[in-house]
Amino acid sequence: MSVATAARVRLPLPPVLMYHSISPSREPDPHRLRVHPDRLDRHLRLLRRLGLRGVSLTELVRAADRGAAAGLVGLTFDDGYTDFCDSAVPVLQRHGMTGTVYVVAGRMGGQNEWDTGPRFDIMTADQVRAVAAAGQEVGSHTMTHARLAGADPAVLAAEVGESRRVLEDVLQAEVASFCYPYGSYDQAAADAVRAAGYDNACVTGDYRPGDRVTLPRCYVSPRDTRAHVVARLARHAVRLRHASSRD
Ligand SMILES: [Zn+2]
Repeated sequence: MSVATAARVRLPLPPVLMYHSISPSREPDPHRLRVHPDRLDRHLRLLRRLGLRGVSLTELVRAADRGAAAGLVGLTFDDGYTDFCDSAVPVLQRHGMTGTVYVVAGRMGGQNEWDTGPRFDIMTADQVRAVAAAGQEVGSHTMTHARLAGADPAVLAAEVGESRRVLEDVLQAEVASFCYPYGSYDQAAADAVRAAGYDNACVTGDYRPGDRVTLPRCYVSPRDTRAHVVARLARHAVRLRHASSRD
């Protein structure tokens, strides 16, 4: 599909859940980024009980293109922390599900220096290759976790385009998914994502009617019970109805 056609496609969007760190650590978590793997396990078991299957963003969007996204839920994991390989992948595999992990391409093997809170380790290139080999999707989350709204063209080219090249070099495969750090985007950022050749991109929250490079997501809190997840999935359907009735 051409970039121009892709930009016009309006997707009947299935819900997309947004996680960050998946870890049993009890260290302080002021930004509420860490979900315990047992809790992720309960969430995924719930999806199965509801007849839903968690999939990567590219699988989700391509299914929506074919009108075959019913019963799917997008699973996303931001920042590319090492606990994705250690703690999230085994849970995903146990349930026969996949997700997209958005890696900060310029910080592989480093830490989340952009945050004021506790430090988390970011996957090395070898770990990024390992999660892709395990069937999970690797997407880009820029080079440095930059805010993209209002960024000038040179910054957009570096953060959006270069991060795709870096990850494609690591994976020796196409990188189709992108995620805006902090959910910060504007028209120029979305245009840069399309121009760089990505197939799809996620924002944070935001239920304005969007297209495949501004897909909304539901934040999952470290304390979310199964009932919370059900409520988030239900709210997604309501918000979409409101968004399309404003169209
Ligand atoms: Zn992030």
